[in-house]
Amino acid sequence: MSFASLGLIDPLLRNLQDLNYQTPTPVQTRAIPAVLSGKDIMAAAQTGTGKTAGFALPLLQRLTQLGPAVSSNRARVLVLVPTRELAEQVLQSFIEYGKGLDLRCLATYGGVSINPQMMKLRKGVDVLVATPGRLLDLNRQNAVQFDQVQTLVLDEADRMLDLGFARELNAVFAALPARRQTLLFSATFTDDIRAMAESILRGPVNISVSPPNATASRIKQWVVPVDKRNKPDLLMHLLAENKWKHALVFVKTRNGVDYLAAMLDEAGYAVDTIHGDKPQPARLRALERFKTREVDMLVATDVAARGLDIDDLPLVINVDLPIVAQDYVHRIGRTGRAGASGVAVSLVCADEAPQLAAIEALIRQTLPREEEPGFEADHRVPQTSATGQLIKKPKKPKKPKVPQAAPGSMQVASKGLHPQSAKNKRKPAAQGAVAAGKGTSLPSSNPFNVQKPRSKPAGKPAAGSHKPAGNPAGGRSKRRP
Ligand code: AMP
Repeated sequence: MSFASLGLIDPLLRNLQDLNYQTPTPVQTRAIPAVLSGKDIMAAAQTGTGKTAGFALPLLQRLTQLGPAVSSNRARVLVLVPTRELAEQVLQSFIEYGKGLDLRCLATYGGVSINPQMMKLRKGVDVLVATPGRLLDLNRQNAVQFDQVQTLVLDEADRMLDLGFARELNAVFAALPARRQTLLFSATFTDDIRAMAESILRGPVNISVSPPNATASRIKQWVVPVDKRNKPDLLMHLLAENKWKHALVFVKTRNGVDYLAAMLDEAGYAVDTIHGDKPQPARLRALERFKTREVDMLVATDVAARGLDIDDLPLVINVDLPIVAQDYVHRIGRTGRAGASGVAVSLVCADEAPQLAAIEALIRQTLPREEEPGFEADHRVPQTSATGQLIKKPKKPKKPKVPQAAPGSMQVASKGLHPQSAKNKRKPAAQGAVAAGKGTSLPSSNPFNVQKPRSKPAGKPAAGSHKPAGNPAGGRSKRRP
């Protein structure tokens, strides 16, 4: 199967050649002819399947073939997406695929000033990619009217509902022309999505390209059971042992992001971060620096989990499992895209067993576990199965033993030692210093309850080349100046 045989016009074919896309992916094979013929679509396709080109290519073609030209403050194709990052990436796809076609494309989203967006809408745009809230703001201020919209695309519809956009979506549907083409893409098809599809699609072509919710099989995935407090050290150990140089690191909280970023920075990696509190331009900059490999490690919270378009990313490390199982699939979707193969490793502590069970049920496989010598969990992670069962309940954590201090000696870290004791206290990182790549010290907040120096279980082998943080023997040799 070739792109030409799907009926795409020459300028698009040339752009695809420049991008070295040789054959259409399954979702493209199904979607392109259907969209070209003006049909509605309901597609179960997750990130990494090539869905963006599946709708962007045929829509660009229709825009060149169908009139009338766009009027001021109007859009002809409207693409709704859940996040700003995805808005920018979908826009980039339209720009790349549509090079030389003389079509105007724009992305609008919240968190940045509305005025420049209003200015750009004055002339009208052929393709408007938008998050729902900002789109409605622009519409209320008459910066965009919907009477020329011929196609509506809902990208990651499930995520938009997860993020609470149902009201905004309904308001947009009500304001659009009833005669239009509608394309709905969603990773999952919950009852809510089905109800929405029922109300807005007309005789849709149904497309399901991979078993819903299955992660791509070419991605090597495994779990390392570990106690929560040892996660940061285990991360450093895995990076050093495996000589991993470029990874997307996911962690649950903003504090966790800051903590790990400072730790990685101190170890000599070039680090940047993405989280909800970061202004949009800084987030986009971080992503760009990571893509161009100016940055080795990108540490992110869930906010970045969906929609990041990073080609050929070899590695995702989940320092924390996501709370919502579906987000695991989306995180892993960053690796192993369209032909590339990937690695995804998750550091899992006992508390996270229910999340692990939910993920395994969703992806219908039990993830292999590989303990890392020197980091075996004191708090056992209960066995799970692909049916979503926890096979055994976790044992109650043992009472910590208080080591007997030799007369005259100082007591080192015991489980009862306060993590912020004077001995282990760290200075807060200077604001902005991590992203700027300047020397930093770890933040004073301690999201992993790290107890330094980490007491090694007696008789266990040393933890590879990595020495725990704060160990006076060092071990954080700078790999980069
Ligand atoms: P998506 O699922 O739309 O996020 O696309 C996933 C990735 O696959 C993007 O980085 C695209 O550039 C790439 N891609 C899409 N279609 C193809 C294709 N037919 N051949 C090679 N790469 C592709």
